Amino acid sequence: MQGLMQDWSMTLDKILDHARANYPDVEIVTRSIEGPIHRTNYGRVWERAKQVSHALADKRVVQGDRIATLAWNTWRHLEVWFGVSNMGAVLHTINPRLFPEQIAWIANHAGDKVLFLDLTFLPLVEKLAPNLHTIETYVILTDREHMPQTSLKNAIAYEDFIAGRPTDYRWGDFDENTAAGLCYTSGTTGDPKGVLYSHRSNMIHAMCVNQKDCFAVGVEDVVLPIVPMFHANAWAIAFIGPMAGAKLVMPGAKLDGPSVCDLIETEGVTMTAAVPTVWMMALQYLRETGKRPGKLRRVAIGGAAIPETVLRAFEEDYGVEVVHAWGMTEMSPVGTLGALQAKHANAPIDERMRLKLKQGRALFSVEMKIVDDAGKELPHDGKTFGRLLVRGPSVAKAYFRNEGARRPDGTVLEADGFFDTGDVATLDPDGYMQITDRAKDVIKSGGEWISSIDIENFAMGAPGVACAAVIGVKHPKWDERPILIVEPRAGADAPSREAMLAHLEGKIAKWWMPDDVVFVAKIPIGATGKINKLELRKMFQDYVLPSAQAAE
Ligand code: ADP
Repeated sequence: MQGLMQDWSMTLDKILDHARANYPDVEIVTRSIEGPIHRTNYGRVWERAKQVSHALADKRVVQGDRIATLAWNTWRHLEVWFGVSNMGAVLHTINPRLFPEQIAWIANHAGDKVLFLDLTFLPLVEKLAPNLHTIETYVILTDREHMPQTSLKNAIAYEDFIAGRPTDYRWGDFDENTAAGLCYTSGTTGDPKGVLYSHRSNMIHAMCVNQKDCFAVGVEDVVLPIVPMFHANAWAIAFIGPMAGAKLVMPGAKLDGPSVCDLIETEGVTMTAAVPTVWMMALQYLRETGKRPGKLRRVAIGGAAIPETVLRAFEEDYGVEVVHAWGMTEMSPVGTLGALQAKHANAPIDERMRLKLKQGRALFSVEMKIVDDAGKELPHDGKTFGRLLVRGPSVAKAYFRNEGARRPDGTVLEADGFFDTGDVATLDPDGYMQITDRAKDVIKSGGEWISSIDIENFAMGAPGVACAAVIGVKHPKWDERPILIVEPRAGADAPSREAMLAHLEGKIAKWWMPDDVVFVAKIPIGATGKINKLELRKMFQDYVLPSAQAAE
């Protein structure tokens, strides 16, 4: 027997329609690329997104065509975001921090027809243009007044592109499984792979991520998505904002400590989200200036493990609740969040911090399990670690154009329909998951695994440390041994090798102790703002450990 409820296909146009119907004058504030602060609202964004759809239709863009952006978080990017997806085309957000050759490779692989780009990226795109084989039109996200001279063929200023277009475009009206967005993984192993989100997967994901224990954004909130829209859907915030009617504050190109803290204070931001490296800079700025983070009450931190110093600074020094999130591009991206269970809410502070440093519990709609190399399920005892597998309506089953396919139908899943995250983790009886490493970063010493993330977390808390990373280097007897790479904090007394090792003593197992400590001026950061282990491994590939010399 079938239910007797209405068909209401879950397409993303419903989100912006809802915002326009209920919160037309709620603001979207942007630090514009041209400089000044710009203000608009959901009503205006709705109209201009309709104009974007019209302008694209005029360029013969049809359902399924890929339309790319190389853009920061701004109101114009938001208009393009909805204007493209709502007409049934596919919004391909390109990460501008990738290597230029990768950007060209991705745009060609995606077959992008139109590219919307910020002024910042014009020199880059001009250089790449001879190798961009499918792009017919370049739309520069600015107005005529700021439109620069350019060698790009068929380039037009965004404001001219949409000017005078009607605002009556018919959005939606297609199947909810239609592709809505395309986002490539950063390709730390092999070529980047395209994750193709559907309207339905994005809608379900946004609804689940905004539950009370998760982002909990409501109509009274002012939300600053620092996580870029090109980094896995800005963790759904560009959908959650208009769904909830929250004011959005878009940081544009300036993601440094002073710029971010200034927006938090002047715009009354209550909730924000970014990777840890952003917060390390922002917290340093707050410490140095003695300023406070205004009305901020919640911060979502994810994309990499939160260093304990960052967690404690927010929670203890500033009274801001930290929500630790874990996920990946293939999961739309959020998989777990760090809200504590009721029975832990009043635990002693150190116990709460220990739990919050774990990556959190599965949000509704995500199933998780850990397995050994033979695929056998492992116990949820908080100690045993294994490969972390996930399943759910917002988890990828295949990559665009069947890249990396493992099965004849093009999918990349295990036989039971689970997706291998490439992470190694523990699960405890209360459902808290803890990443111990990425499978490719795990250090294999004498047949046992050492977690680089654990050691890094402790090392980052040592005095005088700006950033710390742990990688495995070759060892004749043990296969691999960990070394600790430290970037000292500018202006502080540089820590010594002995002080670093003494700091770790008693916090980690003896055999996890790094065999050496190396100091570098800068630890390389990758395209999504995380420590670039691949680069570090290259830097240290010929490194000979003192302990290795002794063993030979
Ligand atoms: P990239 O491969 O470019 O880093 P993603 O953003 O998809 O792309 O990265 C996903 C990976 O980031 C996860 O598989 C995991 O290894 C790591 N990660 C994400 N969030 C966390 C977290 N809170 N703690 C530890 N690692 C995390």
